[in-house]
Formats: sequence, structure tokens, C-alpha cells
Amino acid sequence: MTLYRLPPLPTIRDIIKLYNLRAEKQLSQNFLLDLKLTDKIVRKAGNLKNAYVCEVGPGPGGITRAILNSGAEDLLVVEKDTRFIPGLKMLNEASMGKVCIVQGDILTYRMDKAFPNHLRKAWEEDPPNVHIIGNLPFNVSTPLIIKWLEEISNRTGPFTYGRTQMTLTFQHEVAERMTAATGSKQRTRLSIMTQYLCQVKHCFSIPGRAFVPKPEVDVGVVHFTPLIQPKIDQPFKLVEKVVQNVFHLRRKYCYRGLSLLFPEEQRTKLTEQILTLANVEPTLRPSELSMKHFQGLCNAYRGLCDQDLNLFSYNFREELRQKRTKSQDTQDSEEGEIL
Ligand code: SAM
Repeated sequence: MTLYRLPPLPTIRDIIKLYNLRAEKQLSQNFLLDLKLTDKIVRKAGNLKNAYVCEVGPGPGGITRAILNSGAEDLLVVEKDTRFIPGLKMLNEASMGKVCIVQGDILTYRMDKAFPNHLRKAWEEDPPNVHIIGNLPFNVSTPLIIKWLEEISNRTGPFTYGRTQMTLTFQHEVAERMTAATGSKQRTRLSIMTQYLCQVKHCFSIPGRAFVPKPEVDVGVVHFTPLIQPKIDQPFKLVEKVVQNVFHLRRKYCYRGLSLLFPEEQRTKLTEQILTLANVEPTLRPSELSMKHFQGLCNAYRGLCDQDLNLFSYNFREELRQKRTKSQDTQDSEEGEIL
């Protein structure tokens, strides 16, 4: 099988010089110039022959070249920084018009209509031939994956095409958290939110020194395939709330964080109820809770919310804030009296 290859091109280093693309520290730009590494990232996405790919944050285009060389049919790139557009246009010409360039922010870009309709697959089928690949700044990749996880749960955005696969980079530690098993020190809110919706694989890590300029941390490449059947069958916001509360007090026994789901006056009774309904030992630590435990807790919390329609809107942080304002008001008025 002969795959399409790009014609000889200036190196990425030359492109950076040619277009004066100094990395912007404020935008956390770190470039990958080693084409062996960019090829390795793209190989982890799977077989891209005739695939439709969205690359997020192409920058000077190292990963972009690897995608084009992998036999992709069509490549949509979304880049925020206008300085990279001329270099990307050059790649478009070299690939005979395969690259569609969008200058914009991936956090607001709508991907639900970005690809042809014939690519859409039913959720239960194999994943569609649509892939998302990207090496984004860490401050973008984490909020972005949370947004995409919610879209997986609702089957919206890029997931209107079916179980679109993603290959993305994260800070090494974040990649470890996403794949952390029950009982592991790295187990956090992100482990549960990722693993209840996706089959997730930490493919390999790249040392910081491979990037220009060198970031302070190493980088993990993570591959996500949305699951046909999520491991928790409840709305995303409900799962997020339970998981967030449990891990709010991550070093304490799990009943402590769980109890924050309930208003003070019902706290003891409802915490006991949720633990009994979910069959969870109150003295397990959050990191020791398995996916089955979280499934039980979310289902039990859903049952309690169905019995009391005000329960879901209860937020302990809001209650704390109100208490603080109240005590501040009292202090102010007392001080007023003294004055
Ligand atoms: N992919 C290139 C590479 O591996 O060498 C560049 C990586 S650099 C870490 C991140 C790239 O994402 C930069 O080109 C930056 O301008 C772009 N970027 C940052 N925030 C973005 C956003 N919200 N939407 C789209 N692109 C963004």
C-alpha cells in the first residue's frame, strides 16, 4: 500500500525562522520539532487512511505534517494564533488542498457540522472515521477535555458523528490521573469523569526537553475512545456533582465529602441513606472507591433527588458563602453600634 507523502518541505525549524514564530510564553506555546515524535503521536490515533481529522492548535505544523503523511483524506486545523496561518497555508498547498484552516478558539468552535454527513455512525457502531488530535497548552487541554466529556455524555459537538476518538497531550501528571486505577495515589475527580465515559489509554510520555522552548514538566499522550455504554447511567452534571463533592475532601473518609451533598439539617440522615443504598463503607477514602461504588452513589443520589426536587440545587459552597456574609453583616452592624 503506498500512502500519500508530502513533497520535500522546509524543516519546522526553518518555518519558525521564516515566519518569525517565536513561542509566546503567555500562550504557553511549546513546539515539537522532532518529526519522529510527531509521527509517533499520530500513529497512536490509529489507522488514519481516508480519515477526517481535526487538529487542535497546529502551531508551526509538526503534527499537521505527520497527519497528512498518514493518508488522512481531509484535515481541519483550528489555530488561535494568526501568526501560524501563512505556514499552514503552505502545508495546504503542498497537500493539494487537503487542509481547511480555521483561525479561532477551539473552546468555542462548533464541531457538530465540521465534517460531511456521510461519516456519521450510530453510537453502538464502530467509531466513525473522524479523529481529533492535538498538542494544546495545558491550560486549554484540561477545560477542553471536560467540555468534550460532557459532549460525549450528551452525544453533541464532535460526538454527533458517533464515538469520535481523540489523541491529546496533557501534563504528564494529568495523564496519570486520567488513567489511575482504584486505590492509586493519582486517583482524582478526573479519573472517574474520564473513565466512566471513555476507554482511556496513556500511550507514552514525552520528556519536556523534546519541546522548544522546554516546558517545566513532561507531557503524556492520551488516547480516548468513548464507551458504547457509559459506566454510570446518569446525567453528566449529576455525576460531576457527586464526584466533585466526594473528592472535595480527598484525604478524609468518603462520607465526609459525600455529606456535603446535603443541607445541614438533613446531612446525617441522608448521608447514612446514600451510603446504605449504594452499599459503600463510610470509612473508605475517595481514592479507594471503585467505579461500581460511584455508580451506586450516583444512582442513590438520583433517587434522593427525585424524592426532593430542591436537593440537586443545594450547594454547600453557597451555604458557606451566605453564612460568611451573614456573620460579616452582623460584625459590621455590631461595629456600627460601637462607633
Ligand atoms: N501543535 C504544535 C506542536 O506540537 O508543535 C503547537 C503546540 S503549542 C503547545 C499549542 C498550540 O495551540 C499553539 O499553536 C497555540 O497558538 C494553539 N492554541 C492555544 N490555545 C488555543 C485555542 N484555545 N484554540 C486553538 N488553538 C490554540
